[in-house]
Amino acid sequence: MGTPTAETQKALSGLEAGMAWSLDELKRLVRIPGVSFDGFDAGILRDSASATAEHMYACGLKNVEVIQFGDVHPYVFAEWMEHPDLPTVLLYAHHDVQPPGSEAGWLSKPFDPVERNGRLFGRGTADDKVGIIAHTAAVAAYLKTIGRLPVNVKILIEGEEETGSAHLAEFVRRHKEKLRADCMILTDCSNIDTGIPSITTSLRGIVSVDVELKALPRPVHSGFWGGVVPDPAVALSKLLSKVTDDDGRILIPGILDDVRPLSAGEIAEYSSLDLERIVRAGTGLPDHLPLLGRPEDLARRLWREPSLSVLALQSGTRQMVANIIQHAAWARVSIRIVPDMRPDRVQKALGDFLKAQCPPGFEVEITPDAAADWWTVQNPSDPVYEIAARALEKGYGQKARFIGCGASIPFVQPLTSELGGIPAVLLGVEDPYSNPHSDNESLHLGDFRKILQSQVHMLGALAGYRRA
Ligand SMILES: [Zn+2]
Repeated sequence: MGTPTAETQKALSGLEAGMAWSLDELKRLVRIPGVSFDGFDAGILRDSASATAEHMYACGLKNVEVIQFGDVHPYVFAEWMEHPDLPTVLLYAHHDVQPPGSEAGWLSKPFDPVERNGRLFGRGTADDKVGIIAHTAAVAAYLKTIGRLPVNVKILIEGEEETGSAHLAEFVRRHKEKLRADCMILTDCSNIDTGIPSITTSLRGIVSVDVELKALPRPVHSGFWGGVVPDPAVALSKLLSKVTDDDGRILIPGILDDVRPLSAGEIAEYSSLDLERIVRAGTGLPDHLPLLGRPEDLARRLWREPSLSVLALQSGTRQMVANIIQHAAWARVSIRIVPDMRPDRVQKALGDFLKAQCPPGFEVEITPDAAADWWTVQNPSDPVYEIAARALEKGYGQKARFIGCGASIPFVQPLTSELGGIPAVLLGVEDPYSNPHSDNESLHLGDFRKILQSQVHMLGALAGYRRA
């Protein structure tokens, strides 16, 4: 694995000495409930940005700025650029969080971080306030021990990731020079399992459409008219059942035509993962309910094939059930898309299919909703991936795995392409038990230490990086 340089060694001891402080700083950030969704107080995100900026200043970073841009939730930027001849690495994380959801599901208050069973619970502990600390703790470890970083660093902390980074591409266009870097490290992804460091090399995109079926001008008595009047709720259920087969495969003609097959390397890498165990652990799916797809296909189906979900389904309400035939039924249907599918084409194909398969006579309305592109590593042989894998192996004491991710991070594509196609390394410290976006979100505290150590190794090794 190679031994760390004396400087990295000093930084590692500095990191250890500052570990309790880093954890306290994480907790301080978690206590600020900066939710970027509509209907939440935008002022709290400004507080969260200032607290992040203060933290960066305390770590020894320079040119710390809270950047307000229109009424977009503020970004925080900082840098340390003292080596004209060495590469520059752009570090990304986000300071906004998801809403807490229903507090009834939480065992402790969402914005009051609590340590339990070796984990830190609280909204944002894993997604993504730990991402901020992973970068800054490594920076502080160097600056506080040897007074300099091994490489130039820029840090960008976004404030609207959880609502889809709608303004990020424009932000990057406006601040291209400020953000220019040789490579980028993002800490907003997951490890395949607790203690197993992972580099995410592909993300799925997503498209969705709303479908509404109408039959009558208003709901009517199911006793008087049932038996002769068609029911939109039944019709919508039948329609939705036509989009996938019993195994969950999408039946829209031609939908799989653009799907890029896995490379031989990916097949080999993924075949050694025990994905069934990870899926069951991560979702709570009981053993008596079989997974969709054969065991050998799980990686492909999770990361590199499209999957369809009905996100919401409504006809009447559960609170006010009456003996009536509903006049309309509505659903939002999404497809996670993969390389090389085209979001616009898939969205249209989904809408057209629903329209064409609708039982005759119903009025059907299709409304396109979100569309976000997939992402994949452009050049897997860029040396930054080898550097990252070795740094993670040193930090975790476990070989790094290259994995896919079935979720979407819409900003990765625009961010990297605006910056000239620089390579992006997607890391994270979430594990299958972190429950991000849901109740009882948590961070494994052992992995907290390990990602911080990895980042110290990473900054050290990046000094020798040259883009392929
Ligand atoms: Zn996130």
